[in-house]
Amino acid sequence: MFIGHFALALAAKKADKKLSLGTGFMAVQLLDLLWPPFLLIGIEKVKIEPGNTAFTPLNFIHYPFSHSLFNAIIWSMLLATIYYFIRKEMRSALIAGLLVLSHFFLDLLTHRPDLPVFPWSDWKVGLGLWNNVALTLATEVGLFAAGIYFFISNTVLDKKHKIIFWSLIAFLLVVYVMNVFGPPPPSEEAISYAGFSLWLLVAWAYWADKSA
Ligand SMILES: [Zn+2]
Repeated sequence: MFIGHFALALAAKKADKKLSLGTGFMAVQLLDLLWPPFLLIGIEKVKIEPGNTAFTPLNFIHYPFSHSLFNAIIWSMLLATIYYFIRKEMRSALIAGLLVLSHFFLDLLTHRPDLPVFPWSDWKVGLGLWNNVALTLATEVGLFAAGIYFFISNTVLDKKHKIIFWSLIAFLLVVYVMNVFGPPPPSEEAISYAGFSLWLLVAWAYWADKSA
């Protein structure tokens, strides 16, 4: 899942106007932000294997530190705690924590059973929506559209920030289409390096949302 994760950060504006879209983006993608450095230092492993599921050529061999349910709970508590100490907003901190956890459950929906429940056991889960490209696209694009609706109906943006916001949305859609219909990544290493560009989207989202 890619734009589906961002959809939840956009929709979170309905629950909490104080939480910046940038923090929301960081929260929903925290597990994927941790993943590239873990791949590079060799504690997690991915392999390019076209046909692994209909939707993605990636075989997520080993990623218990970033993506197990147990660790997702730890990461979500960690982000919520740090946010609370910086901003002193309990509600926003809780929502940021829930957004971190949402990543696991959206991945659970799409991945084949490759998501570890605990880092120390072989118990892996996944409902496998990625086996069906049309259904995956419909789900993600539907979520994304709903997210945009909730964001724009709960946020007041001036003209400049509207441009920054809509260019971010357009960029996400272009990256998504390229991911889905483009060629597979050239190497496993390229995946980790490309993963760092997620931080650019976080920065862009802070820039777009002047309200927090
Ligand atoms: Zn993920």
